[in-house]
Amino acid sequence: MSKTAIFSDIHGNLKALEAVIADAKREGVQNFACLGDVVGYGPDPIECIATLQEIDCVCVKGNHDDDASNNRSLDNLNDEARISLEWTRKRLSASQKEWLATLPYQRRLGRNMLVHSSPDNPEKWNYVRNRFDAAASMQVQNTPLCFLGHTHVPAAYCKEGVNVMAVKEPFIHLQADQRYLVNVGSVGQPRDGIPEASYVMFDRLERTLTFSRVAYDLHAVVNAIKSSELPAVLAQRLISAA
Ligand code: ZN
Repeated sequence: MSKTAIFSDIHGNLKALEAVIADAKREGVQNFACLGDVVGYGPDPIECIATLQEIDCVCVKGNHDDDASNNRSLDNLNDEARISLEWTRKRLSASQKEWLATLPYQRRLGRNMLVHSSPDNPEKWNYVRNRFDAAASMQVQNTPLCFLGHTHVPAAYCKEGVNVMAVKEPFIHLQADQRYLVNVGSVGQPRDGIPEASYVMFDRLERTLTFSRVAYDLHAVVNAIKSSELPAVLAQRLISAA
């Protein structure tokens, strides 16, 4: 019961989500947490929400969840985001929009924090892209660990005293005197050049983090996007992971 799989940015990619859940269960994970952007871009928003509800996943709200669940203008977004969110809005039921709309911007997971974008002003959707961004965010981080997503690029930063450093290893033994800001990457639309789905396993008792990548039937999702009214560039982006 000590292991939690923490993932983010599913973006309507059910095949990738199912692969992550199956991989985590093989590792003995029973608890799941999602850091937002359940929908947007991908072809299966309805099924992704249903799957998270089935596994009783703890969840926070991402910017795409926010946009998909209200009626505000999408004119300030790029074409791919706007067209896919308009497409998603038409498909979600009222109760699914309600579920997305009522997700909190941040929440606790035991002693630690979950947020989509950054722990400072999470509703502003700022990006933590490097250790300087991380250092600014960690000034307001008041928990030993904070997990986030939003950039679609996995990363970890640790703070010892006033120094913030990037941690590159995929397996981290957590030190009691350090704080950690952990980007779990993206399940459904990675942007670090690796197309496999990304997630992090947190073992609360062993005090470890494990970054994992999981292969899934990417071409089935590419074909589903191509045969829908979603922009074809979104299919290409899954392959390039850029
Ligand atoms: Zn996202």
